[in-house]
Amino acid sequence: MTPLIIPVFLPHLGCREHCLFCNQRTTAKKVPSPQSVGKFIEASLHHFPSHQGEREKQVAFYGGSFTAMSLEDQVSYLKEVQPFLSSDRIDSIRLSTRPDALNEETLATLKEYGVKTVEVGAQSMLDEVLILSKRGHDAKDSASAILRLKNWGFEVGVHLMIGLPGDTCDYFLWSLDQMIDLKPHFVRIHPTLVLQGASLEELWKSGGYSPLTIDEAVEWLKKGILKLERASIPVARIGLQPAKELEKHLLAGPFHPALHQLVDSAIFYDMAEYLLRNDPDGSKPVFISHPKDLSNLKGQRNENILRLKNRFKLSDIFIFSSREVVRGGLVLQTRGREVWIDRKSFD
Ligand code: SF4
Repeated sequence: MTPLIIPVFLPHLGCREHCLFCNQRTTAKKVPSPQSVGKFIEASLHHFPSHQGEREKQVAFYGGSFTAMSLEDQVSYLKEVQPFLSSDRIDSIRLSTRPDALNEETLATLKEYGVKTVEVGAQSMLDEVLILSKRGHDAKDSASAILRLKNWGFEVGVHLMIGLPGDTCDYFLWSLDQMIDLKPHFVRIHPTLVLQGASLEELWKSGGYSPLTIDEAVEWLKKGILKLERASIPVARIGLQPAKELEKHLLAGPFHPALHQLVDSAIFYDMAEYLLRNDPDGSKPVFISHPKDLSNLKGQRNENILRLKNRFKLSDIFIFSSREVVRGGLVLQTRGREVWIDRKSFD
């Protein structure tokens, strides 16, 4: 069950670098002080729905590079959460940070103050891509941070990006392979967006950078997600959360409020296309999926059905759902035949 998160956003705090794609330095409004954190948590707890009582509650320090702040500053924020932890009103803390700011002393402090989850901004495992993105760390830093965090018993999440300068689909898939070997507990993948105020804005305006299209992003993500599913590594999120602030600063790039759903629909299209292609009797095909996969099978505004009809010159395709089909599975019934495929075994 995913935890309920109280996000405390600390824009650009601790950052020594100005990563090419990041606009936190220029758009950061007021950074919450450590003293304001307790009040914020208290107010947020009142807004949590009461029936969610069983779910883990986490305070999350997002934005900036938490562990790149001085140890004293980190502790001043972490201390504010301690009364909530000791009264069991909050279960644990999570934070996001850079891979090169996680030394042993910092890890010991995070453990001491109840941090459970650390999300590491690796972005890519290609040094060439990291240099072009002005990250200021290399792939070895990310690998070593993930292994050390796991040794200390933290839950480890990894952030990767697609479409950074110098990136290709093969590089992204190679980065994922490196990550899969390191076995993080979950992965988030964000497409690179051109945001007002980021250094990438200048590069894009001068013609030195072209963002991925939505179709390209879906293509890369489709391959990436299947890879992670086969390795049983959960994908916590694809794409940035739609927010007014983000949309206000968005200049270009593959932003879509339901990107994950687009990717899932594309996977189901490919599975259906594969089954039909391999079925010579597919004149009146019937597809059956798990009820929770039905909308992905149909695609947004029935796009998958229309594409399949066009592709195979079919007058009708029948779609049903059944709980007897496993999540991620797809059954094709044609005259006298039934074949099925599972997205985990689909490549
Ligand atoms: S991407 Fe992260 S590390 Fe880089 S400047 Fe932005 S907040 Fe700081």
